Amino acid sequence: MRKTTVTTDISEAATQLLEGGIIGFPTETVYGLAGIIDSETAISTIFRVKGRPSDNPLIVHIAHPSQLDDVAAEVPELAWQLSSALWPGPLTMLLKKRSSIPDAITAGRETVAVRMPAHPAALALLSAIGQPVAAPSANPFGCISPSQAQHVLKYFDGKIPLILDGGPCQVGIESTIVGFDGPNIIIYRHGSVTAAQIAAVTDARCIYKQSGPKVVAPGMFPRHYAPVTPLLFSNNIQELAQLHSGKKIGLLHYGEHFSSNDIVASYSLSSSDSMEEAAANLYSALHKLDNYGLDLILVKEFPMEGIGIALNDKLKRASYQQ
Ligand code: AMP
Ligand code: MG
Repeated sequence: MRKTTVTTDISEAATQLLEGGIIGFPTETVYGLAGIIDSETAISTIFRVKGRPSDNPLIVHIAHPSQLDDVAAEVPELAWQLSSALWPGPLTMLLKKRSSIPDAITAGRETVAVRMPAHPAALALLSAIGQPVAAPSANPFGCISPSQAQHVLKYFDGKIPLILDGGPCQVGIESTIVGFDGPNIIIYRHGSVTAAQIAAVTDARCIYKQSGPKVVAPGMFPRHYAPVTPLLFSNNIQELAQLHSGKKIGLLHYGEHFSSNDIVASYSLSSSDSMEEAAANLYSALHKLDNYGLDLILVKEFPMEGIGIALNDKLKRASYQQ
C-alpha cells in the first residue's frame, strides 16, 4: 500500500470509509481503527491489521442515540436513560444485537457494543457517512493505545490509507463498558465514566464484573495496553527504584516525585494533581518512555477513586508479566 495520508479533511475520510477502506480516526477516549459495519472486507481488514483475535468483538460507533434502534434489537429503559445523560461520551453499552449486525463484529455474540463518541471530528465523520462504523482502538493487539494521530501512524504507516487527525484525545483512556441485567447495570470495563456517575442518573445498582476464566471484553485480558519496556506499578515507587538500582529507570509520576542516579527519564502526568489530566497524558507518556531503551518504567498507583480506578486497572494490565 502507498503512504498513509494524515489529514483533517472529514470528507476525504468519509470517502475512504464509504469505499470500504479502514481509517484511523479520533475519539475523545483513544484513536480508533474504523470501517463501515456492512463491509465484510473492511471488518476483516481491521482484525488482520490489528492482529486482533477474531473472538474479540468491536465497538460500533454511532452519530446519534436515535441510531441505537438500527443496531440493537432491544434497548432497555436504563440504556435510554444512560444515553440521554452521558452521551456523547466515553460510555459503551452492550445490547442485544439486531440480526443485521454481522457476526464478525460481535465475534458471534448475541450482544453488540455501541457508543456515541464525544469528539467533534468523529461525530462530523459519522454524520457525513450516515451509518455506523465498527472500531476497536488503533493499536496492534496488546500494545499501548494511541492517543494522538502520530501514534496511529507509528503503528500502521503504509498499512492503512488514511488517518483523520483530531489532535490529542481529551479523555485519553478507553470507554467504560456496561451491560444490563434487569434492574442492574454491570460494569465490564472501568473507564472515565464512573459507577457513581451512572448511579447518579439511573436507579440501577452497579455491579463490577471481575474478569473470569472466559474473557468478556478484551480490555479484561490480564496483559493489555502494555509498553515493550517492562513496567512496574506500586504504591511505593521509591522502594521499587531502590530494589532495581543499577537499571535504567523511567518514571511516570503523579503527585509524589523524587530523583536518583538510576532515573534517566521522568514525566509528570499532571501539573495540577488532576487524575483527569493524568489520564489524558498517560498513553502518550508511555509511548515516549518506550522509545528510550529503558530497562524499566515505574508508575505510582493512583488513589482508588473516580477515574483512578480505571487508571490503576490499565496499569495493572500494562505491568502484567506472563
Ligand atoms: P477496544 O476498542 O480495542 O478497547 O476494544 C473494544 C472493546 O469493546 C473490547 O474490550 C471488546 O471486548 C468490547 N466489546 C465489543 N463488543 C462486545 C460484546 N458484544 N460483548 C462484550 N464486549 C464487547
Ligand atoms: Mg483496545
